[in-house]
Amino acid sequence: MTKSANLGFPRIGLHRELKKSLESYWKGETHADALHATGKQLRARHWQLQRDAGIDIIPSNDFAYYDHMLDTTAMLGAIPPRFAGIADPDQLYFAMARGTAAAPAMEMTKWFDTNYHYIVPELHTGQRFHLASTKALDHYREAKALGIDTRPVLVGPVTWLSLAKAKDGSLDPLSLLDSVLPLYAELLAALKAEGATWVQIDEPILVLDLSDAQKHALRQAYATLSAAGPRIMLATYFGALLDNAELATQLPVSGLHIDLVRAPEQLPHLLKLLDADKTLSVGVIDGRNIWRADLDRQLALITTAWDAIGPDRLQIAPSCSLLHTPVDLDGETALDEELRSWLAFAKQKLAEVSALTLAMQKGRGAAKAAFDASAAAIAAHKASARIHKPQVKARAAAKIALGRGGVFSTRRALQRQRYKLPPFPTTTIGSFPQTAEVREQRAAFKKGQIDTATYDAFLQAETERAVRIQERIGLDVLVHGEFERNDMVEYFGEQLDGFAFTKNGWVQSYGSRCVKPPVIYGDVSRPAPMTVRWSAYAASLTDRPMKGMLTGPVTILQWSFVRVDQPRSETCRQIALAIRDEVIDLETAGIGIIQIDEPALREGLPLRHSDWDVYLRWAVDCFRASASGVSDATQIHTHMCYAEFNDIMPAIAEMDADVISIETSRSDMELLEAFRDFKYPNEIGPGVWDIHSPRVPSQADMEALMRKAAQGIPADQLWVNPDCGLKTRGWPEVEAALENLVVTAKALRR
Ligand code: GLN
Ligand code: ZN
Repeated sequence: MTKSANLGFPRIGLHRELKKSLESYWKGETHADALHATGKQLRARHWQLQRDAGIDIIPSNDFAYYDHMLDTTAMLGAIPPRFAGIADPDQLYFAMARGTAAAPAMEMTKWFDTNYHYIVPELHTGQRFHLASTKALDHYREAKALGIDTRPVLVGPVTWLSLAKAKDGSLDPLSLLDSVLPLYAELLAALKAEGATWVQIDEPILVLDLSDAQKHALRQAYATLSAAGPRIMLATYFGALLDNAELATQLPVSGLHIDLVRAPEQLPHLLKLLDADKTLSVGVIDGRNIWRADLDRQLALITTAWDAIGPDRLQIAPSCSLLHTPVDLDGETALDEELRSWLAFAKQKLAEVSALTLAMQKGRGAAKAAFDASAAAIAAHKASARIHKPQVKARAAAKIALGRGGVFSTRRALQRQRYKLPPFPTTTIGSFPQTAEVREQRAAFKKGQIDTATYDAFLQAETERAVRIQERIGLDVLVHGEFERNDMVEYFGEQLDGFAFTKNGWVQSYGSRCVKPPVIYGDVSRPAPMTVRWSAYAASLTDRPMKGMLTGPVTILQWSFVRVDQPRSETCRQIALAIRDEVIDLETAGIGIIQIDEPALREGLPLRHSDWDVYLRWAVDCFRASASGVSDATQIHTHMCYAEFNDIMPAIAEMDADVISIETSRSDMELLEAFRDFKYPNEIGPGVWDIHSPRVPSQADMEALMRKAAQGIPADQLWVNPDCGLKTRGWPEVEAALENLVVTAKALRR
């Protein structure tokens, strides 16, 4: 009989219980026992919730105290030598994630194209492994004691090795497969002995472009593991298998999970390739977004599979782990009824999986209420005037000139005449410290404890203080400090039409850190200016140029839950035009330097190389649409961080910002190598202060970085600035570092 399955549940808890418990343990306020008790409670609650939702196949070992990749690293005993002295397993685990005074944390990076960050495994020559954790077994037993026979989840060995970084350049992590496989085999055998009949092994790298070595490793791995223990459900997600489809279907495993939300078109081909003895798990409910599913459409898709392979080899599941969705929509009482009827969080998604399974087992009539509700919501959504605004759609469809009036050299001459900045101009990226007081005042204002006039007066005083400090230090281009902003996307989303905000829609970003992405549900437009007031106020306080500060369209898109009823590019274009209006209004208000931040442009890159060009085309065009409405004498800046940009330099150049500030200091100007091969045409400020570290860089540090930059970039194109906003830093270090930065620029001028 067809079964319902889940691949993973959010760990953090409906009320972010895990976050709170972790943070009090880290602060030393509570003992590890309290943390473990919270974990145990959450696991029990989530297993029960899945059972109540009617899910037949419930995962275990999807829970992690920090990260499932780090769990795998801990399981394999791949502890970097700098942590070797830590005996307590909890302390060791969190030291790897967060660092200690003596040992810096392991690197962290984004999990495929999600906003979830995993801890990157570190491997070195002579690396040894041993089975160092029994967590998978323990959690299997823990669920069993509650009467739930789960399907344990493991990150597959080839994905784990592929995402690992070798600490010595000569080591190829995949060459360690032979050492890792026996440990996986040992664990699988132990799970089987405990009674597990199936395991889920995640190999999401199967949706990427694979090297021959990776393909070989996959064949070798599953030839070994298929006989080692329980039957294996090999899970792929986040995209289509494409050229890896034959490989994936030929691996000697018992089942294959495929993502039919991201890639429904792959189903017919896979059905042809699938062996007659294999189970197919169809991922038909979106694990990456918060929209309610069109159950009839998904039922039709599943029926295609059913027709080909029959009911007994079929499982119905979300597209991927529900880790990337919030827990429960029921608590969102502040959203209106209509909006809520379009959404589904993890709990609601499991109900959708159950309804689809029931319909396959007993016919659509058996799940009539769920199907009727889905159909009604989908129809209302299609027709809603809250979503569809013909004027916004028409404007986005109309052609506009994406280029500025003049070419860069023309603009540069006009801008230099206007501002007469010295060589190596100095500036910052926008935000100044969001002190406890700033956050308290904002919270008090939100709760209605202080009135608008009091809050505004506070913000004005903070802004003025920031302006005076910048003047005293001698920066050339000032900023207002962004004290009025909670978050660089939320601040704009709250002022744009087409956005909604949840009360409790938290999604884990890394460790205890959660984000609450805005929901873009409708056509986006800007009812009124969003930033002009604060920028104009700050400009009125000083004779120096004041830089206006905006978040770019691609970043707003990337850090939100995005509607799926139109292409992302179209939604992005609507946001771009709203930002364009703001840019023009800033110019009209006399702000002649405007920065449009795009820190997330790089992370929006598709997983497959062959899709990059299409994405970069519309992303760059959206940036240009937002920036091209102003005169040549207005200077447009952009800012990027958090990524390696070397492979998209031509696209960055095509954005044609007059100035870009970019994160480089952490990788010791590694990026600047790119400038030797690619001549960046406009002005650029390579960040000379790693603001993610509390360390105040000396003038000598910054000067050395600038000199290195000047080897690849002509001096008259260079700016001097930190590598990101300063909101997480304290004022004393900000003042000290900026003083050094200004002295650095002066030394360079000489
Ligand atoms: N202007 C923003 C700030 O300074 C940019 C933040 C970012 O790049 N993430 O905070
Ligand atoms: Zn930044």
